[in-house]
Amino acid sequence: MKAVMDQNAFQSAARMALRGTGWNGILSEGHQAQSGVKFGKEKRKMSTIPETMKAAILMGPNQLEVKEVPTPKPGPMEVLLKVASCACCSTDVALMAKPFPGQPPYGSFIPGHEYAGEVVALGDTVDEFKIGQRVAVEAHLGCMRCRNCRVGNYTACLNYGTPKHRANGMTSNGGFAQYVVNNINTVHAIPDHVGFNEAALITNLGCVLYGFQTVGGYVAGDHVAVIGPGPLGLISSQVARAFGAEMVYLIGTRASRLTKGAETGAHRVINIHEEDPVKVVLEGTNGVGADLVIESSGASDAPMMAIKMVKPMGKILLLGFPHEPVLVDLEDVLMKNKSIYAVRGEGWANLRRAVSLIGSGKIDLKPYVTHTFPLDEINTAFKTFIERIGGAVKVVVKPNE
Ligand SMILES: [Zn+2]
Ligand SMILES: [Zn+2]
Repeated sequence: MKAVMDQNAFQSAARMALRGTGWNGILSEGHQAQSGVKFGKEKRKMSTIPETMKAAILMGPNQLEVKEVPTPKPGPMEVLLKVASCACCSTDVALMAKPFPGQPPYGSFIPGHEYAGEVVALGDTVDEFKIGQRVAVEAHLGCMRCRNCRVGNYTACLNYGTPKHRANGMTSNGGFAQYVVNNINTVHAIPDHVGFNEAALITNLGCVLYGFQTVGGYVAGDHVAVIGPGPLGLISSQVARAFGAEMVYLIGTRASRLTKGAETGAHRVINIHEEDPVKVVLEGTNGVGADLVIESSGASDAPMMAIKMVKPMGKILLLGFPHEPVLVDLEDVLMKNKSIYAVRGEGWANLRRAVSLIGSGKIDLKPYVTHTFPLDEINTAFKTFIERIGGAVKVVVKPNE
């Protein structure tokens, strides 16, 4: 037997050795020690997969507790990931306050849908990924059998919330844990130079890219106004500029976030406490209005502001979730042939684009990761995120540190 074996051969040998254990694909230090096999140019340290792991369990409304639970096992078409980074998202805040449809019951549910880590075990039939591969994920798998899923629109699965449906961290367990199982269709390989913290944010970028796709793609030469400098608004500003927008306006109320937006993409920031955003955008466009307005604040008066500042035939993209019904002037929309679009989620194609853009450095998500916490301090992490303590934008939990 040759002393050096390539990684594929090592994995297939190890997987064959493990067949029949019901736990295909686990590579432990024990196996490596027994075989004494090296692979690749250097001997990689294989991590042992423990029987139990630490995970944040939702025990009741807004009640997250870190507990020791069994480590999940990957089935066919699944991989086990060791979670390096899992970001707090406002969707987590919403589903922790009030369960989403199909959410697993209190006492068993692990939230977290924005995460990145390393593949540590392969389920049966999986040859798309390798042990040790660095990956990021998307939450939505869908049901893979309804009309929307079958044509690729699985973030709008018609069986959402039923037992057929799966979205990690929403209707199945997610990444606020040391390990998590993902279907391979929700896993994306990331380049070695992309950090796990920024990789955990790729669904945010994917959602923004899905939005740009939905409104028609091209913004080169356009005036784009973004309302709400939260994570999606900040990323939207950077993407609009990278895609060639002539002017990017970023509208908000918090100076620290507007400063972050000015540093990462916006040409002109508008603090609502100091200036009238509609007036500024109209002045900047010779009274015509913006070509595209992206509403990412969720504020109830923001859609109306968007309608007022978009030009005739202009487009409005809704990314922010309003918490109550909103009143808008549809007469103005109709009379001036304005269009309103809404997107939810991202989809495989946009995750692929997101990985490419952060891999090439054309989009930089690092500035938006402002805080990190170990899993034991997850409640402090959420408090920091919700209350925006210390200028928090995205707060990342590190389950294995
Ligand atoms: Zn999210
Ligand atoms: Zn479906």
